[in-house]
Amino acid sequence: MTTSIIIALALISIFLSAIYMRNRKVSTNIKCHNEKQLKTIRELNITNELSASLLSSLDMESAVDILLDRSRELLKATRSAVILTNKNGGIEGFFTSLGPSSGCKVKLTGILRKAYEDMVPARGDDIPSMPGFDGLPDNHPDISGIIVVPIILRGEIIGELMVTDKNNGKDFTSEDEDLLLTIAFYLGLTIEKVNLHDEIVKMASTDGLTGLHNHRTLQERLENEIDRVKRYKRPFSLMMIDIDHFKNFNDKFGHQTGDEVLKLISAIMTENMRSIDMAARYGGEEFAVILSETPLSGALQIAERIREQIKDNKIELKGEEVTITVSIGIAEFPEDGSTREGLIGAADKALYLAKRSGRNRVCTYR
Ligand code: GH3
Ligand code: MG
Ligand code: MG
Repeated sequence: MTTSIIIALALISIFLSAIYMRNRKVSTNIKCHNEKQLKTIRELNITNELSASLLSSLDMESAVDILLDRSRELLKATRSAVILTNKNGGIEGFFTSLGPSSGCKVKLTGILRKAYEDMVPARGDDIPSMPGFDGLPDNHPDISGIIVVPIILRGEIIGELMVTDKNNGKDFTSEDEDLLLTIAFYLGLTIEKVNLHDEIVKMASTDGLTGLHNHRTLQERLENEIDRVKRYKRPFSLMMIDIDHFKNFNDKFGHQTGDEVLKLISAIMTENMRSIDMAARYGGEEFAVILSETPLSGALQIAERIREQIKDNKIELKGEEVTITVSIGIAEFPEDGSTREGLIGAADKALYLAKRSGRNRVCTYR
């Protein structure tokens, strides 16, 4: 899965670079001046410039912003906008360049609905007189001329790109329409690239089974927390959690049921944390929680709550009521460990103590 996403992302980047390189070569070699050739040169320059500016953009908003500004400039339009839709045709995002604010409640009606349903461009010179027009949203500036083109990805429509009113008083032309279609094509490619990139970043930082952060992300976050303490002088705590006698559980109920327990415990941990805290699968059946800006006393309370909730969550298996318990070790930065390794070591020692003193309990390093 990861490999196929990386390959797809690489192919899109290669594709954009190839267009860029090809266009650069062609546009510098052409030295002819009839109207058709001039048009070709202009188009090549535009696509060249679009692919160059999009090659490096990896977040949706900046990529959309670039294309919205270029749409407006190239088509001499007063405004441009992008509507992104979900699979059910609901509006997921609305971005504009010099248009109404993004909070404006756009609707897919009239010409927008037509272009969306037919998945083809639509153009009009007087929107209010067009079939299906049912008014503009509140706070929307008056408009008359428009081109709407679908943004299509792998044969499916994922949104619309539009420009309104030429700023020289003229009407939009079929050439404008072609140009906007080209920009929408680049927009589709860029959205695909950004989505794949986001997916890779998420996969690289997440544990596949539990959906928690993985070991690597935990280490990075620990470094960040240590930096924060140096700046703001507020300690944080680290909790290490290990399931008790989990080998016996697996032997009795099977590894797959054991995996379900790992997910259940992850959910209980997450429910008991704030959004600024971070839970990670440290490895196997061991978890770690970073409690940001939380001294040992606060961490103890949270750890007790997690331990109790896991113990009280009875599971019915093979006609038997099974209780799962965990042992938890806690250490505070910088009091119990003044480096990343030192802190993990201290929390681990506390966990070991919890195991040795009977399991199903919380111990602190001190
Ligand atoms: P203790 O109370 O001392 O922790 O005993 P334990 O049996 O839990 O021992 P330990 O902490 O060393 O746990 C190792 C066991 O955890 C081995 C393996 O059966 C189980 N385990 C590790 N990773 C996974 C996993 O991804 N899925 C499942 N189902 N079990 C796992
Ligand atoms: Mg273990
Ligand atoms: Mg264990």
